[in-house]
Amino acid sequence: MVEMNLNRRQFLKLSGAAAATLAVVELGFNEKKAYATTKEFKIAQATVTPTICCYCGVGCGILVHTKNNTVVYTEGDPDNPINEGKLCSKGTTIRQLYTSEKRLTKPLYRAPGSSKWEEKDWDWMLDMIASRTKETRDHSFVEVEQGITVNKTEKIASLGGAALDNEETYLLSKLMRGLGVVYLEHQARI
Ligand code: SF4
Repeated sequence: MVEMNLNRRQFLKLSGAAAATLAVVELGFNEKKAYATTKEFKIAQATVTPTICCYCGVGCGILVHTKNNTVVYTEGDPDNPINEGKLCSKGTTIRQLYTSEKRLTKPLYRAPGSSKWEEKDWDWMLDMIASRTKETRDHSFVEVEQGITVNKTEKIASLGGAALDNEETYLLSKLMRGLGVVYLEHQARI
């Protein structure tokens, strides 16, 4: 047995180191517990909103945790039958859609021949899209082709995104068919 002669100062130092070591050992042997505690703290009293990942056609379910109008955490939705709580690396980082400095918050318009983007409001932008769609459709509309009524335009195409749900896709399809658009696609099929 080795005897140790410690003064008060040395004793306190040694006790502190021992306590710190024990704490590390405790965390080391119980990583899951430490992680769960941190996560719980971050999302405590947050509002949880289920949504669908907008990145690809798989359509994984995501839970978005918000506090004070800010997205504090996102995770796979365990109740969603598509992904059962799992997310790929892209879906895992989806919070960056909200936090990124590069996120666009206003519509940008670049006039034909211009090299500059201008900020526009949504009313201006929607009117511009509607008038150009009508102009293009009216100029390119074909009623009859080789003796057959076709009522179509081949100068407009529609490409739906993964964030569209069934109902939105149905409405978009109706609108495009009504305009005579024949090039109608969806990201999930590409
Ligand atoms: S989490 Fe990944 S696989 Fe799932 S929809 Fe998003 S991008 Fe697609």
